[in-house]
Order: sequence, then structure tokens, then C-alpha cells
Amino acid sequence: MTLYIVPTPIGNLEDITLRALRVLKSVTLIAAEDTRTTRFLLKHFEISTPLTSYHEHNKLTKLDAIFAALASGDVALVSDAGTPGINDPGYELIREAVARGIRVEPLPGANAALCALVASGLPTDGFVYLGFLPKKDKARAEFLAQVADEPRTLILYESPNRLVEALAALQAALGDRPACVAREITKLHEEFQRGRLSEIAAHYQQTPPRGEIVIVVGGAPPVVVETWDEDRVRAALRARLDAGEPLKLAAKALAAETGWDRRSIYGLGLELAQDDSES
Ligand code: SAM
Repeated sequence: MTLYIVPTPIGNLEDITLRALRVLKSVTLIAAEDTRTTRFLLKHFEISTPLTSYHEHNKLTKLDAIFAALASGDVALVSDAGTPGINDPGYELIREAVARGIRVEPLPGANAALCALVASGLPTDGFVYLGFLPKKDKARAEFLAQVADEPRTLILYESPNRLVEALAALQAALGDRPACVAREITKLHEEFQRGRLSEIAAHYQQTPPRGEIVIVVGGAPPVVVETWDEDRVRAALRARLDAGEPLKLAAKALAAETGWDRRSIYGLGLELAQDDSES
């Protein structure tokens, strides 16, 4: 039997897929984060499949009942909105299904993080999804320090009442980087604020945000190493060799500082040694 992971709309009911509707109709049970929310969705699409709750507080105790259902039929997992398992219940059930050799079939569909990323105008070739920022100042600062050097685009979820504070914390930890705040994606008041973190923070200080929010922040800019001229490299190398540092280590250390590659510095070192032996 199969456990289907079924994304549901994050605001616009048209974003349910034809396949999601077919699967939700055909399974014997739907495990839902909030049965009331899912009942509303099912009613809209005239689906009458039985529901059971699967949420943060029963995600371990409910496993037996869901696996009992999976013994004789297919089960669909849904959350309140978007893709189950992405900052929503799902992981423990999916992990256990995999461990028990049950087929797990994911359906593609709505997800706030990816919508925000692709509309942000920031690089999409690599990104790091970080979920919600910690709420407390110290934990948030420690969390952000870990990603300060990350060169890929960062994606975070945040609540509207902490947005301005979060943008300030991001600026303090990462610098005033380009960013995008995506708000109410797929809904009536959908909005994308793009600019530096400080500019977006100033905007939302003026106009306190409402609704659901994703923050996308550009990755750490590449460290630009100024390339030294040859005389400067020679002098630095000479100083290290005179201090007794082996050529191999000196070349490695200087390669990191000078913009020169290690082999060229090594070659210079050999020239210096030859000059010394000839003088
Ligand atoms: N599973 C969901 C997904 O796939 O995106 C995420 C669930 S998480 C509990 C809810 C958070 O996702 C919100 O607080 C917000 O940060 C983000 N989110 C969900 N829907 C959104 C929307 N329509 N616009 C902007 N952010 C949204």
C-alpha cells in the first residue's frame, strides 16, 4: 500500500493539482494536520474520504493507527497548507513508512519557500532552506552566525509581528544584503518587497505587515582577494623563508593572502633559493 504526500494550496484553492484531487478521492484515509481545515478543502472539491488527525502533538502516538490503515489501503498525508513535512507534520510518519518498507509517493505542489525564492530575483542555482528563525535574541544570533559565510541564497519563514526585528537581526549578522520579503503568496494581497535588508525593514516599520511571510536573503558575497604584485609576493616569501618556514608551507599560506596560486609562489621560492646560492 502507498503513503501519498499531498501538498495543498497556500492561499489559492486553484493551486490544488488534478492528481492531488484524484489521490485524495481514491485513498481509504487522509491523515490531516487539522481535520477542520482539510474538511473545508474536501467539501469545496466534493470529496468525502474519511479523515484522521495527524499533528505536532500526536505525531508519534498516531503512527500505529495510520500504519493499521496502510495495511489494507492507501493513505494520503496533508497539512494545513503547502507541502507536508516542510515545517509541518510529516517527517516522523514518512521516516517510519520508509523503515517499514512502505511505498512513499510524493506529489509535487504548493510550497511557500520555493514560490518566494523563484520570485525574489535572487540567485536560485543554490539555496538553503532554514525554516523559522529562533524567536529569542541569543538563539537567533547564534543560528545566524552559523550561516553568515553561506554563499547560497537563504530562505526563512517568519511571522509578521517579528518581521522587522528579524530583518534587523539578519542585517546585524549578515550585513546589509539584498533580500526579498514575500507576503501572502497566491492570495489577494500578495506582495514582494525587494531591496537591501535595511530598506525592506524601513518599509515595514512604516507599514506593519500582516499575513504570512517568507524572507529570502542573498548569500554571502564572494571574498575578493586583491592580487599582489610580484615584488610584494617575493618580499613576503623572503621574510617567511628567512624566518625558517619551509617553502611548501609558505607557498600555501601566501596563496590564501595574495591571489597567487601555490605553484607560482613555490616557483618564486625556488628562484630565490637559486639567487641565494649564486650570490
Ligand atoms: N508546509 C508549508 C509550505 O510548504 O510552505 C509551510 C508551513 S509553515 C507552518 C507556515 C509558514 O509558511 C508561514 O508562517 C509562512 O512563513 C509560510 N507561508 C505559508 N503560506 C504562505 C503564503 N501564502 N505566503 C507567504 N508565506 C507563507
